[in-house]
Amino acid sequence: MVRILVVEDEPSLRDGIVDLLTGDGHDITAVGDGVAGVEAGLRDPFDLVVLDLMLPRLDGMEVCRRLRSARPGMPILMLTARGSEDDKVRGLMEGADDYVTKPFSARELLARVRVLGRRTPQGESLDEVRVDGAVIDLARMVVVRGDARTTLTPREVGIVRWLFRHQDRVVTRAELLEQVFGQRGDLQTRAVDMAIAVLRKKVETDPAKPTLIVSVKGAGYAWRMSR
Ligand code: CA
Repeated sequence: MVRILVVEDEPSLRDGIVDLLTGDGHDITAVGDGVAGVEAGLRDPFDLVVLDLMLPRLDGMEVCRRLRSARPGMPILMLTARGSEDDKVRGLMEGADDYVTKPFSARELLARVRVLGRRTPQGESLDEVRVDGAVIDLARMVVVRGDARTTLTPREVGIVRWLFRHQDRVVTRAELLEQVFGQRGDLQTRAVDMAIAVLRKKVETDPAKPTLIVSVKGAGYAWRMSR
């Protein structure tokens, strides 16, 4: 069972989502505007937030930003209107993890909810990732290895989060560039490689032989492929 906060102002759609997710065995809290969404999300740690973009009192982008800064590990699935590509990109930059475009099918929504809301393995959470001999504390932005503490930049936290959340597949350089760096363009993908090299020095036991952030030749990077 996953605890989900649904923030959607249109009553019929909200009821439909609540019925669908309740029927899938989840525990749902539903609210109808952005202010109530922030209040609920700050009050309780949810496993997932399903957040409409166009909301009264406080728009979804601002709700996303506030929840993300208070609870960096809480996954957010954005609901966007058809054709608003700019909104999707902006939403992901504000820290949303994924989006579905309205109108969406029940199957489509459930698939995204199952991926984002799934419990992470071995007691790991998106606030704290335990790796060989170290803890990557994403909320406090530090890597703790024995007595040594290394500070992470917001971008490095973003890279770790993105790779960790998408650990079932290879993540391309272009994707990291767009989703974490907020940039586009083939020429800039070198910046991704440089950032990964610096990050490996902080999180890998042996940066020369990375086992956590693995290079996949011709494709990009993957989180701990052996798992
Ligand atoms: Ca709406």
